[in-house]
Amino acid sequence: MEKLYFIPGSQDLYGKECLRQVAEDCREMVDFLNEKLEGTIRIELLPTVETSEICVRDMRTVMCDDDCVGVITWMHTFSPAKMWIKGLQELRKPLLHLHTQANEKLPYDEIDMDFMNLNQAAHGDREYGFILAKLGIPHEVVAGFYRHEHVIAKIRQFAQVAKAIGLSKNTRVATFGNNMRDVAVTDGNRLECEIKYGWEVKYWGIGEIAVLADAATDEEVDAKMAEYLDKYTMATDNVESVREQARYEVALEKFIAKNKVTAFTDNFQDLHGMKQLPGIAAQNLMAKGVGFGPEGDYKISALSSVLMKMAEGREGATGFIEDYTYDLTPGQELELASHMLEVPASFAANRPEIQVHHLGIGGKADPARLVFDGVTGDGIQVTLIDLGDHFRIVCADIELVKQPRPMPKLPVARIMYRHKPNFEIGTAAWCYAGGAHHSVVSTALTRSDIAMFARLTGTELITIGDDTTEADLQKFFMK
Ligand code: MN
Repeated sequence: MEKLYFIPGSQDLYGKECLRQVAEDCREMVDFLNEKLEGTIRIELLPTVETSEICVRDMRTVMCDDDCVGVITWMHTFSPAKMWIKGLQELRKPLLHLHTQANEKLPYDEIDMDFMNLNQAAHGDREYGFILAKLGIPHEVVAGFYRHEHVIAKIRQFAQVAKAIGLSKNTRVATFGNNMRDVAVTDGNRLECEIKYGWEVKYWGIGEIAVLADAATDEEVDAKMAEYLDKYTMATDNVESVREQARYEVALEKFIAKNKVTAFTDNFQDLHGMKQLPGIAAQNLMAKGVGFGPEGDYKISALSSVLMKMAEGREGATGFIEDYTYDLTPGQELELASHMLEVPASFAANRPEIQVHHLGIGGKADPARLVFDGVTGDGIQVTLIDLGDHFRIVCADIELVKQPRPMPKLPVARIMYRHKPNFEIGTAAWCYAGGAHHSVVSTALTRSDIAMFARLTGTELITIGDDTTEADLQKFFMK
């Protein structure tokens, strides 16, 4: 289980009794939060910062602990912020500034100078906020009494985003082949991805998977087929085509384990040695949290794994999707999103069927794929683009809906959604923002999760939703 460290701030001017009380209050706070956040994160208390040396030591503990994904700080008393400078300069993990108090109510009848000296977050947290601003350190501020539900919810959200950032820093994308010839948005600077988000983007030939697939034993393929039949309904006589996909997944799982890969891409233009484009193989792996991007889209592959991690433990589905086609009936506009084959099984509203159909693109054998209708509910669509001098995240609020009518001739999984505030503004804003045709859709995450991720990673964010107006569209390209 990942952990956060909790570092309180004070100083030695107030005497030993005051510092003892600070530590005791923090212990109570940490115990309370651990109880509330059980299953999500563990919190461990570090020594109160009274000097620059303690701060440096605490931050080094944070940085040297691989289980630690972030840190919570709180100034119980006034803590002169110069003593935080050197420690904060060593911190390269997500930071939550918890602006709280040990007490909820002001004790009007009892309050004296001792109480005020001990409980002065309004004073100390502003001094501390200044040094964070001065140092330009990305961080999240949560304000309120720590026992209030909305504060606990925010800390939980921070823990989930910090865990996702922790995974991001350990993300390794295997790109089998390069990105699709001539496509712009799937390309970019892999080096910058690693510097900014920690994503190692490494090339391998798809032949690596072809060789491993050929070497898969009957027992391994049988076991994978049993897994498929347990989760999905066989709706084809072409079992050999399905077994071929099972071989690909066996091969991919071995490759992933051996090379410590967390996400991968393939490309239908580069399937040398493969009989089919991976269909079920990719769909089933995505449902297990493995990131995936088609056509060599390493950014969306990495982003999908990061956002699946962020959504861990929440209701709802999260995964890769591609924008395809619209129903433009006035006032009832809808989008149909899908892909050639690779729609994550986690989006299934019904038990998926295994079907085999011809695939017109790629010139390979008929691939087996999972076909299903998609989940419904409020959701977000998120993408990440590389603009050369910076990355941009675009996050749109959407409503996933049940498809109004069957599509008996469409042999692929799909989801459908409505844009906000409406089709005209929502899709125009996405186009203005340069949003990609590959994205991650989630019914588990919200705009506020993505905003926190963007803030903590220092990424530009453009949001689209009910608060987006015609006037906002006119602001694009206005510097
Ligand atoms: Mn695509």
